[in-house]
Amino acid sequence: MNPNRKPILAGNWKMNKTSSEARDLAAKLAPLVSGVKDREIVLAPTFTSLQTVSEVIKGTNMVLAAQNMHWEDKGAFTGEISAEMLLDLGCEYVIIGHSERRQYFGETDDTVNRKAKQALKKGLSAILCVGETLAEREAGKLNEVISRQVTVGLKDIVTEYIKKIVIAYEPVWAIGTGKTATPEQANEVHSLIRQKVKTLYNAEVAQGLRIQYGGSVTPENVSALMAKPDIDGALVGGASLKPDTFATLVNFK
Ligand code: PEP
Repeated sequence: MNPNRKPILAGNWKMNKTSSEARDLAAKLAPLVSGVKDREIVLAPTFTSLQTVSEVIKGTNMVLAAQNMHWEDKGAFTGEISAEMLLDLGCEYVIIGHSERRQYFGETDDTVNRKAKQALKKGLSAILCVGETLAEREAGKLNEVISRQVTVGLKDIVTEYIKKIVIAYEPVWAIGTGKTATPEQANEVHSLIRQKVKTLYNAEVAQGLRIQYGGSVTPENVSALMAKPDIDGALVGGASLKPDTFATLVNFK
């Protein structure tokens, strides 16, 4: 953690919870985290639960995120959701390029970039996900993969908009597997991302950028991760689905 960057803890609920279950989770979470002032708390339910969660968290210290969006304004894109639709429901953030979207739904660095640009242009903040597979890491391609994902993902995004970007480093081999990157491994990649952003923009932008770690973060390992200088938050899947667990994680010491 760096005192100049506000920690950001986000819960990615993935394809879990019906609308009424989501309402219940958000409602139970609210009082458990209401005392948290120095951290940003973001909830990313499914599209079908955005409205209901938006109502529950109105006036609390939690903000709403979507898990995906389309890069066009509107039109003949059956099954897709636009930035404007998300804003209308009270979303402040959108997760872009999660590895599950890259892995199962054909998202590429190019589509990630298009979505990020559209999100920012429309006034959403973007959580842009990057991360290497185990095969890429073992083949010594970690730096190459992360550098490419960051460079292409941020292509043509002007300095003014970068303030509304959070990068989530999520090694694919650590997501939902119970295998967390060690704090050292995670910090090393966060530092690499910050260096890359420095070369693409400048030192001030790089120092201001928040970089979350994601991959089997739990109440047990969050403090050690957050103690590292380049780790500014966590993107949390499984451990965000239970109010007590996520609240404990958010309240890490
Ligand atoms: C995620 O959803 O981005 C994630 C990191 O999942 P988990 O915490 O379950 O590994």
